[in-house]
Amino acid sequence: MKATSAGDGTGAAATTAAVPTARPADGGAIVIDGKAVAAKVRQSVSVLAHEFEGRFGRPPGLAVVQVGDDPASSIYVRNKRKSCQESGIASFAHDLPAGTTEAQLLALVHALNLDQRVDGILVQLPLPGRMDPNRVIDAIDPAKDVDGLHPVNVGLLAQKRPRLRPCTPYGVITLATEYGIALRGLRATVVGASNIVGRPMALELMLAGATVTVCHTGTRDLKSEVERAEVVVAAVGKPGTIPGEWIRPGAAVFDVGINRTATGKLVGDVEYESAAQRAGWITPVPGGVGPMTIAMLLSNVVAAALLRAGNQA
Ligand code: NAP
Repeated sequence: MKATSAGDGTGAAATTAAVPTARPADGGAIVIDGKAVAAKVRQSVSVLAHEFEGRFGRPPGLAVVQVGDDPASSIYVRNKRKSCQESGIASFAHDLPAGTTEAQLLALVHALNLDQRVDGILVQLPLPGRMDPNRVIDAIDPAKDVDGLHPVNVGLLAQKRPRLRPCTPYGVITLATEYGIALRGLRATVVGASNIVGRPMALELMLAGATVTVCHTGTRDLKSEVERAEVVVAAVGKPGTIPGEWIRPGAAVFDVGINRTATGKLVGDVEYESAAQRAGWITPVPGGVGPMTIAMLLSNVVAAALLRAGNQA
C-alpha cells in the first residue's frame, strides 16, 4: 500500500517531524506508537495554549462535568483535568452528586455556555440511566463542543467542512497522517457504527478520500467486508471480533476497542498477534488509539478557543 508524507490534506492536528516507521526485520506490521504521536500533539497544543494566553490574557479553558462517582469515569475525568494542566489549559471541575436531576445538569451546561473563561465543555459519559445523553449533548453550545459530538459538528463533518471533530476518529486520522498512510482511494471498512466512534469514523475516512464500508450487527458477512479492506477500523467492544487471518496482507489496522479479559489484561477487538503478522501497520491495545483521544480533546479545546476568539486554528 502507498505511503505518503504527513499533511495530505486531511486537516489533522499540526505536528512536527515524522515518527519512526521502520518495518520490523521479521516482516511483520509497523506497530503504530499512539503514545509518541499523542505526546507530539500535546506538545503542539501546549505551544498554542501558551501563545493564546499571551495574546488574550487568559488560558484556553475546559469545563469537565461528571455526574456521580462511577470509578472508570472518575479515572478518565482525573486524567483529562491533569492533562489540561500539563498543556497550559485551565480546567474547571464540576463534580455533581449522583442524585443530580437532568434539569440541574442542563442548567449548569447553560451557565457554562455563557461563561467567557470556558472554551470547551465536556460532560463525561455515560450519564446516570435516567438522563438522556442526547438532550445534554444538544444543550452544549456547538462552539464549545470539544468532544465533537453535537449534531452541528457531526453535520459539518458530514458536509466536508469539519470544525470541532469527534476526538477518537480524529485521533485515528492523525495517526494515519503521522505514519504516512495515504488514505485517499483506499478501501476502508469500519466495524462498529456508534455515534461516538463508528459513524464519525466513516465520515472522517470519507473526508480523507477513502471508499468506506460500515459494518454493524446487521452486516451479513463481516469476514468478507474485512478481508477486502486496505484499512480496518475496529470499534465494537468485543475481544476477538476480528481474527488475524481476516486481515488483508499490508492493510492498516486501527483497533479502537478496549476490553478487559478475565485475567485483567487489556485487549482490543482484533486478534493482535496473528493480525500483526499480516498487516502493514497496526495499533496495539493499550498504547495505540487510546492515548490519541485525550490528545485530540486538548487539540479541540485550543481550536475552540481560537475559533471563539475569531481566529482559525
Ligand atoms: P457501542 O456504542 O457499544 O457500539 C458498538 C458497535 O459495534 C455498534 O454499532 C454495534 O452494532 C457494533 N457491533 C457489535 N457487535 C458486532 C459484531 N459482532 N459485528 C459487527 N458489529 C458489531 O460502542 P462504542 O462506544 O462505539 O465503543 C466501541 C469500543 O471502542 C469499546 O470497546 C469502547 O471501550 C472503545 N472506545 C475506545 C476509545 C478510545 O479512546 N480508544 C474511545 C471510545 C470507545 P449495532 O449498531 O448494530 O448495535
